[in-house]
Amino acid sequence: MLLKNVVILKPGFLEPRDIRIDGKIIAEIGQNLRPEQNEEVIDFKGSKCVSVGFVNTHTHSPMSLLRAFAEDLPFNKWLFEKILPAEARLTPEAVYFGAIVSMMEMAAHGVVAFCDMYFHMDAVARAVADFGMKAVLTRGLVDKDGDDNGRLQEALELYEKWHGFDDRIFVGLGPHAPYTCSRSYLRKILDVAKVNDMLVTMHFFENSWERERYTPQEIMSIGFDQVHFIPVHCVHLDSDELKLLSSSYPSINVVSNMKLGNGVPPVTKMLKEGLKLTIGTDGPSSNNSINPLFDIRVLILTQKMSNPENVKVTEAYAMLTKHGYEALRLNGGEITPGMPADLIFIDLFNPQLQPTNRVLENLIHTFDGRVFATMINGRFVYYDGRFPTVDAQEVLKKFTTFSLMVTGTES
Ligand SMILES: [Zn+2]
Repeated sequence: MLLKNVVILKPGFLEPRDIRIDGKIIAEIGQNLRPEQNEEVIDFKGSKCVSVGFVNTHTHSPMSLLRAFAEDLPFNKWLFEKILPAEARLTPEAVYFGAIVSMMEMAAHGVVAFCDMYFHMDAVARAVADFGMKAVLTRGLVDKDGDDNGRLQEALELYEKWHGFDDRIFVGLGPHAPYTCSRSYLRKILDVAKVNDMLVTMHFFENSWERERYTPQEIMSIGFDQVHFIPVHCVHLDSDELKLLSSSYPSINVVSNMKLGNGVPPVTKMLKEGLKLTIGTDGPSSNNSINPLFDIRVLILTQKMSNPENVKVTEAYAMLTKHGYEALRLNGGEITPGMPADLIFIDLFNPQLQPTNRVLENLIHTFDGRVFATMINGRFVYYDGRFPTVDAQEVLKKFTTFSLMVTGTES
């Protein structure tokens, strides 16, 4: 496929270029490239800017089914009184459609890959396979009652079945949190991660009360510093504890933290410490949108309110793209020949992006996030309001039925 006359979001690339895609890969970038025989050609005539896609490093994609179901509640009531009882009613088919609807929202907002933690993960994997997105999937692991009820075994079965599927689906391990997993269970999970070289992600100091029960040193020393680790939230950490995360990829979920009353993570201090921060939206029932550009904007504002020099545009863009790829251990994150064709197309005629010579600044500080198209491994999963890989109407019909089944008529 030959994409003609697109403006590549890269320093020094303001003139339109042509991009040749060969299968899943960016094959060539140049000017006046000639179509080869039988090559599909799309000429964007300079109307679209192309960026590498965004990575959402933490969500619970099926929770779109529970969106707006538990509003205006403190965290404990939100989780233990509303969300968990509703989740007990979820079926694999419901989870499948919840994940598809979340991927529709993410794709329309430029997301090409995400890291998920939930249950019925085989259904999520089927949804990711069908939709065409990239994902690292983790079965949420809990042994609160002294028994994990086969969850770790399920995670390993998921790994055997799906890890490496179509160069898009990868399987990691997702211990839920230090307050829902015993220390011996965490040690066991980390041993399994080391043996299979699996990525590990876990909610990490999201709540202030966690500090009354354990310290970051205690948790990290179980072995989280010896695996590829995405600690999620990292809100309640002291300055001298940040270096504990120097080899990890913290997922910052600031909108969820603010909405659930958990505070704001110390992002500026983390950046000064040199941490490779990434962006997570958290689940659609605690944000409630899963548009990483909205999260990055809020994140920037929380840091600039005390000092406008905090969080540069280039740092924000790296969180959305390059660091996200590294966090999920995906090849890519830049527009260069040989890299996977994970591209998003943004309409340059959008008044929010004017003047277009400062398109990166406008993308980060102004753009509402709705892209024109999203391509993953050379295939469009979103194009001009349509979702070529799924029957959107049918999906939404089924999704609504399942959402009502789970949440009932409760408001
Ligand atoms: Zn979460």
